Amino acid sequence: MSFTKQFKCTQCGQTYPISKDILVCPNCKDQGILDIEYDYEKIKGIMTKDYFANNNHYSIWRYLPLLPVEEKYTKNTLRVGWTPLYKSMHLKNIYHVKELYFKDEGLNPTQSLKDRASVIACVKALEAKQDTVACSSTGNAASSLAGNASKMGLKTVIFVPKRAPIGKLSQLMIFGSKLIKVNGDYKDAYNLSKKAIEHYGWYNRNAAINPNLIEGKKTVALEISEQMNFDIPDWVITSVGDGCTIGGVYKGFYDLYQLGLINQIPKILGVQSEGCSPFYDAFHKGLPLEETDENTIADSIAVGIPRNPIKGINAVKFSKGTYVKVSDDEIKDSMKLLGKEEGIFAEPAAAASLAGFIKARHADIILKKDRVVVIITGNGLKDTKNALEIVGEPVLLDANLKDLIQYIERGERNE
Ligand SMILES: *Cc1c(COP(=O)(O)O)cnc(C)c1O
Ligand SMILES: [Zn+2]
Repeated sequence: MSFTKQFKCTQCGQTYPISKDILVCPNCKDQGILDIEYDYEKIKGIMTKDYFANNNHYSIWRYLPLLPVEEKYTKNTLRVGWTPLYKSMHLKNIYHVKELYFKDEGLNPTQSLKDRASVIACVKALEAKQDTVACSSTGNAASSLAGNASKMGLKTVIFVPKRAPIGKLSQLMIFGSKLIKVNGDYKDAYNLSKKAIEHYGWYNRNAAINPNLIEGKKTVALEISEQMNFDIPDWVITSVGDGCTIGGVYKGFYDLYQLGLINQIPKILGVQSEGCSPFYDAFHKGLPLEETDENTIADSIAVGIPRNPIKGINAVKFSKGTYVKVSDDEIKDSMKLLGKEEGIFAEPAAAASLAGFIKARHADIILKKDRVVVIITGNGLKDTKNALEIVGEPVLLDANLKDLIQYIERGERNE
């Protein structure tokens, strides 16, 4: 049984009955991204603290009453969610905050937070009796759709921009997708996918447009809250591309607040790259988003025209958070720091969250008394080329002790 109540347009506020036949507000078209509203009064009777204590689903399905899906199609899926929330001992002391946590989304089945949305897309496609799901992506949405779909017996057609890293493409091809590599950037891949989806009638996983997907992404916030025993942090930090992840983070806390399970929504810090910062610019100028270049190593957040501007801005505005932007060098330093101090291998877009934390801490946006959660959105193994550029190629030694000793002692002198 699903507790969804209605769709509400984020642009004009008009509400509509839930239906698989509308994807955006008929009045506002593509600008009219819909939000799903729930019957919180009914859910309150079910999702009590006891509900969590007695729940043995260690995946996003433990939050079923807050998801827009029927239980029937959730039985045969990859295990998405319930990723660890690690308490930091080292970086916490280096940057002096009260508590610091890392939510490691790289441990999802296809190694990114996108699995939370993709598994929902696949369930919705099955509910709609579709056999093919399509999307355009800088990489992770695609590989995650492909993996989740193959488990659930669905076909996938994926549109990627020319620059998508090979680690992500190899995942896609192993999962058996029809891969369309578009000679252009993300915008071009998105536009072609939109036309193709209209032409062939495939199920649309383009995250910004499809209101179900943010509902999957919000489970990261539900988990963080539960893992912290509903004693929520002061700040939650995530990197931002299209704006769906940060919108989902807000929605998850919003739901729990409506249910009376938390007494406040944490401040949300959105992190963008200096080379691609449309949200940062719009938020600080107080103006609508403008298209920017896509000039950063953090390919997963290189989105020059974000598809979810309203939710991406509102998440930060309503939570009284802010946006920061970080350079590629700061992202690279953060990748090294996170690996060396915390044992987490993040892809550049994920390390950007840590770089944003450091920036906000130095600017005293985040204070010494604060408790902070940094979401690490994706795994570094997807993009080893960038990682090797940061740490350098390994040295090849002959197999004798003398050379080894020389090499080790030289290293120690240089440290
Ligand atoms: C998609 C993605 C993001 C940003 O999410 P948006 O919904 O596009 O804002 C951040 N990090 C990683 C690793 C991603 O794959
Ligand atoms: Zn509207």
